[in-house]
Amino acid sequence: MTAIANVVVVVIGLVALVLLPRSTAEDRSPVRAQPPTPSPKPSTAPPRATAASSRKVKANEAGLVPVIMYHRIVPKRSASIDRTPDQLRQELGRLARSGYVPITAAELVAGKIDIPAGAHPVVLTFDDGHPSHFAMDRNGMPKNDTAVGIIYEIAAKYPDFRPTATFWVNREPFGLRDREKQRQAVKWLLDHGFEVANHTYAHPDLRRLPNQKVSEQIVRQERLLEKIGAPASTTMALPYGSLPRKRSRAQAGKWDGTEYRFRGVFLAGAEPTVSPYAKSFPRYAIPRIQSNGKRGECRRWCTTYWLDWLDEHPRERYTSDGDPSRVSVPRKLRATLSPARAKSVITY
Ligand SMILES: [Zn+2]
Repeated sequence: MTAIANVVVVVIGLVALVLLPRSTAEDRSPVRAQPPTPSPKPSTAPPRATAASSRKVKANEAGLVPVIMYHRIVPKRSASIDRTPDQLRQELGRLARSGYVPITAAELVAGKIDIPAGAHPVVLTFDDGHPSHFAMDRNGMPKNDTAVGIIYEIAAKYPDFRPTATFWVNREPFGLRDREKQRQAVKWLLDHGFEVANHTYAHPDLRRLPNQKVSEQIVRQERLLEKIGAPASTTMALPYGSLPRKRSRAQAGKWDGTEYRFRGVFLAGAEPTVSPYAKSFPRYAIPRIQSNGKRGECRRWCTTYWLDWLDEHPRERYTSDGDPSRVSVPRKLRATLSPARAKSVITY
């Protein structure tokens, strides 16, 4: 009996090994991606979508887009919002295998979604400018186990996975105090197609501040970003996802003679956003999804839940027609699109 029981255990063990998702082992392999020097896009004409080609890939550009929110990427988690490098690897590997292609938050709010036909956009966002997001090694390359290092690892393994992300930073971007080092970091990220934008100067809860202080926090950070070589932010993420009492202050305002105006303001929870081409796109309160498992309050608000849900509801998800100049939707969704897109719509 014991012998039989042992055989059963061994067999179960073998089956478990075989059934383990290949990704678990693969995504840990220490492939060092070489961030390529940025090169201009090939000069071939952009693809033209047609009703037939859109139907073929089941394009739905009115669908849902996950905007994923990450904080620190550390080997030992001390807060529930921390993720380990392996957890980030697993999640990005999953996204790549499910046909997601990263775009920046700026591209999302500008409606510049240039990904292959049949692919789904995802926005990877990292808050608070932690050193675990970006740091350079001695050779001027992104360090292993930083967010940028891991993004390049995944892109090396899955060539369709475009290495890009948005970093919303405060007064010490990536934990750097030295202006010159801040400048180098921002330059590297911008040169490689990443976005660096405004998360306020001192990370206050904007709801608790008087209007002028809200604008001061945003303007101080815009001035810092300008000093270190970043363009004017077109997106901002609210600290704690907390909107100011006068909500419009988060999107536009003026302090000490400096004006700001964003094209998108991002919250800290808790579901996918509708497409920027939809009438109902919540441009100044765009939801994000915290990267996390399924425990506690994450039972249904974090990435494990939502990425499963999107896999199970493919018709709800944004699927690209591959043509950045056209917006393709199934006929019954035509009316959900913003009138501003009317001239470029393909229905099928
Ligand atoms: Zn934050």
